[in-house]
Amino acid sequence: MIIMRSITEQGHTFEEWLTPDMIARDVKQVADHISRDYKDKEPLFIVVLNGAFVFAADLIRAVDKDLHCEITFIRVSSYWGMATTGKLEFIVPLQQTVTDRDVIIVEDIVDSGLTIHQLKAHLRALGASSVKVASMLFKPEKLEYDDAKPDYVGHEITGEFVVGYGLDFDGFERNLDAIYKAKKS
Ligand code: 5GP
Repeated sequence: MIIMRSITEQGHTFEEWLTPDMIARDVKQVADHISRDYKDKEPLFIVVLNGAFVFAADLIRAVDKDLHCEITFIRVSSYWGMATTGKLEFIVPLQQTVTDRDVIIVEDIVDSGLTIHQLKAHLRALGASSVKVASMLFKPEKLEYDDAKPDYVGHEITGEFVVGYGLDFDGFERNLDAIYKAKKS
């Protein structure tokens, strides 16, 4: 008998969708791909807080131990401005020089792609040699910015809202070891 794990947050029910084992397999596949692609390089992982901290912690420990890499953190808030490019506000600014670096942005989920679209433009303007994106989840149907399509994806998902494994509902549920999908009513 399969017992579906579910949680309730602020009156909304979420059902387990990706188990810890499935997540571990996804992370390993992304890590192996990155290890191959960056074998002779020295990438800088830029982790987008808050949501990506759990994925990032697993990812950097799953890449090949010989991969010579650095890791740093930023926190951004993107919003629509009058300009078509929108505006990116740094809540935790970038501490590291990215000039001539091969950067891998680590995200929890790419939805419309606005955050990644703006962040990529920003990092390129700072002189990064290359900017790629590793995201635990990707909602292809919601993507509005072609250049924000992640290069490395753990799992694709349709439009549903998800929580757990770093992803929150109003700040809560980040600590869940699985990823839960909003139950359709
Ligand atoms: P984007 O800029 O791609 O539209 O949005 C990306 C951000 O929106 C993610 O980093 C995440 O914070 C939030 N987000 C998008 N979809 C979901 C979701 O299904 N669940 C949660 N918890 N956050 C989401």
